[in-house]
Amino acid sequence: MPEILDQARNQVLENGVGLDQAGVLAVLNLPDEHLPAALQLAHEVRMRWCGPEVEVEGIVSLKTGGCPEDCHFCSQSGLFASPVRSVWLDIPSLVEAAKQTAATGATEFCIVAAVRGPDARLMKQMREGVAAIRAEVDIQVAASLGMLSQEQVDELVDMGVHRYNHNLETCRSYFPNVVTTHSWEERWETLRMVRESGMEVCCGGILGLGETVEQRAEFAAQLAELDPHEVPLNFLNPRPGTPLGDRPVVEGKDALRAIAAFRLAMPRTILRYAGGREITLGDLGTRDGLLGGINAVIVGNYLTTLGRPATDDLALLTELKMPVKALSATL
Ligand code: SF4
Repeated sequence: MPEILDQARNQVLENGVGLDQAGVLAVLNLPDEHLPAALQLAHEVRMRWCGPEVEVEGIVSLKTGGCPEDCHFCSQSGLFASPVRSVWLDIPSLVEAAKQTAATGATEFCIVAAVRGPDARLMKQMREGVAAIRAEVDIQVAASLGMLSQEQVDELVDMGVHRYNHNLETCRSYFPNVVTTHSWEERWETLRMVRESGMEVCCGGILGLGETVEQRAEFAAQLAELDPHEVPLNFLNPRPGTPLGDRPVVEGKDALRAIAAFRLAMPRTILRYAGGREITLGDLGTRDGLLGGINAVIVGNYLTTLGRPATDDLALLTELKMPVKALSATL
């Protein structure tokens, strides 16, 4: 057994203390023959510190495309030749999407907008939309609206938004290679305000942007320092027309190594499979991840790409005897 896994068994599994950057790097560099042991340990850590429940979330895009930022992986940027046009969803459609999400058994409904940060129009839509959902649908509402001012943070709390997603996307040292229109530190500042407001912090990123393995470890350590309630882990699904449109997808085994390593860095977080898992891992990988440290999924479609049908994921959870986290347990 590699020394890092022995160390992790003692430190993370027994004592709940996550691996540091060097430890994460050691897991990311494990040879293939030790991958099953790393996944098994990550699974034990998840069961011990989080339990068997899986949190299910649906997402909807309130405003799609036409974003002024230049995140090089994103087809919603208005600066690239990608085919996503600016489209707004109306309130009845938003409520309908929340109902459909709740019908799958999901407890989380995340409203997402492709913006640098919300303007007055978007905040008004949010106020009306969140109120309508809360009146009609039994589900928790999360939001992802880019960078916020303190007033906007306070307004979202007032609306009853219970969790805010804002991804750091990648580690601090690599971020300027991926985004030039805003800084990693600006994202961190929004996360700090969200944390202080009492909303739950959801913060993750995308692997496969061209970062080195060392930078993947740096990213895990920076996330662990933030200590988010939830970490959505995406794998780049290269979108045509974006600057990263030609990048190769992350190798399945590297993706699984990353899942195990991120779980061992953050034993208590909700580690969510987000976009890109279908092309990186295929159907089998969904199972491997859920048995390797993942304890949350997004059902249905992602923002700009199609996901697996919700029923497939829910059937898999039943087969794995992993109950869907109930709403009453999260309130
Ligand atoms: S990731 Fe967000 S901020 Fe960046 S271009 Fe896409 S929608 Fe805009």
